[in-house]
Amino acid sequence: MGKRRRGRERLENCDSCGRTVPRDKAVDFNKRSVFSTDLRTNDNITLFTDVDVYYCISCAKHRKIFEKKKKLAQMKRGVF
Ligand SMILES: [Zn+2]
Repeated sequence: MGKRRRGRERLENCDSCGRTVPRDKAVDFNKRSVFSTDLRTNDNITLFTDVDVYYCISCAKHRKIFEKKKKLAQMKRGVF
């Protein structure tokens, strides 16, 4: 005993460039896609689907996901 079991992390594919990154290095981002029929009646259907996507660090930086995450954390804290 003593040695922690490492080196067998789950791998994720970067959503942007397709690179395989270990889970602890990948940046997960909750992408919310909205599907709406845009009808102004009661038949309007709006679907929110949350998709977890993983980016490698370079793609996350490129897409400014770190800044988005900062904003999300602020919103959770109650700063509106
Ligand atoms: Zn990437």
